[in-house]
Amino acid sequence: MALREIVQFPDPRLKRISKPVGEITDEIRELARDMCDVMYAEPGIGLAAPQLGEALRLFVIDTEWTEEENDRCPQVIINPEIVHKEGKIVWEEACLSVPDYTAEVERAAQVTLRALDLEGKEIVEEAEGLRAVCLQHEYDHLDGVLFIDRISRLKRSLYVAKRKKQLAEESEG
Ligand code: ZN
Repeated sequence: MALREIVQFPDPRLKRISKPVGEITDEIRELARDMCDVMYAEPGIGLAAPQLGEALRLFVIDTEWTEEENDRCPQVIINPEIVHKEGKIVWEEACLSVPDYTAEVERAAQVTLRALDLEGKEIVEEAEGLRAVCLQHEYDHLDGVLFIDRISRLKRSLYVAKRKKQLAEESEG
């Protein structure tokens, strides 16, 4: 089965505000499966629905996995809310939708997230460190925000210029 393609910057679909998931239907379950497949194949530790072009408030995350298939433990997060934030942490971030770039981003060091799982059950998670960073990064995607929107204007414009050049070169073939 072919993997779905990741939407990449500067695609405007990454800037949309996603809509809450209504009922958890077979389509939603299928989308979550597709998202996990893409996340592990890339590889990544999180992927949000807008990154596959779907404007829905849903992401998948697995900050623990290794190459061994039986270590995989993807969590599907639906309609999340970050209900508490505390402290500050700076982390070097990357994004499957922002090719060839990493930058330090400041975020809350601890977060409490409330969401639904794929069965529609409420989950509450307290996270810190990488897990907290990843939850905030993926949550941002649902509001059309990328990590490069959280760095200095200068750094962002340097990246945007580099990316435009890269895309121009690709289209020239
Ligand atoms: Zn991302």
